[in-house]
Amino acid sequence: MPRFFVDQPLAATDGDIALPPGAARHVQVLRLQPGDALTLFDGSGPEWQAEVTAMGRSEVRVRLIRVEEAQRELGRAITLAVVMPANDRMDFIVEKATELGAAALQPLVSERSVLRLSGERADKKRTHWQGVAIAAAEQSGRTVPMRIEPVLPLSSWLASLDPREDEWRGLLSPRAALPLAGFPQRRAVFLSGPEGGLSDAEEDAARARGFAAVSLGPRILRADTAPLAVLSWLALS
Ligand code: SAM
Repeated sequence: MPRFFVDQPLAATDGDIALPPGAARHVQVLRLQPGDALTLFDGSGPEWQAEVTAMGRSEVRVRLIRVEEAQRELGRAITLAVVMPANDRMDFIVEKATELGAAALQPLVSERSVLRLSGERADKKRTHWQGVAIAAAEQSGRTVPMRIEPVLPLSSWLASLDPREDEWRGLLSPRAALPLAGFPQRRAVFLSGPEGGLSDAEEDAARARGFAAVSLGPRILRADTAPLAVLSWLALS
């Protein structure tokens, strides 16, 4: 059944409602007809069974039939703080991290970044990645799309972290002595570096903010593999 994210709160109502432009466009592309069933979710947790009531040129109307609780989110809120790799590898990370259940993705720029985004270009990319995350949520059955945070320099992001926050902080480093192991907190953030890795000074700055350096084994994983390897481990264990 077609499944769409609706960027407005959904609530029980006697009549039908107009879908916002994003969801309406998807319904039009699929050429759904009045009476066709679809599933809608607004990112607040549950999902709605609905049916199309009217298809216009610019407006699509639906009736919300019933709300259903769905338990498809991870039991932990995991943020991936990723120094952005170049090319379309960020699209890949965003899609796979959404499927695997990450709560948020923090795109970063560091000393050795190949991809250096700021200002309007960074905002445009963020909007694009949020779209990729929504499409992956629709496809994978997630009820809460992964949040894409604004692009930041690594140093600014580290400085913004609350030192008292009750979250586990992991620094993915091929030079770490400790292997990744379990942790009790319900919130965690994992920082991973770019193609050329993080500098020693950047790793020290992360440690000073409470990050524990952990290894993912003796092989060097690519900048898109490392964060997804951690997330797979957490999602499936
Ligand atoms: N020559 C770089 C270095 O030594 O840091 C390699 C960087 S690697 C391509 C990109 C990022 O993936 C690293 O900065 C790190 O965060 C993560 N990474 C790759 N392999 C890892 C491993 N075996 N253990 C922990 N993190 C790893």
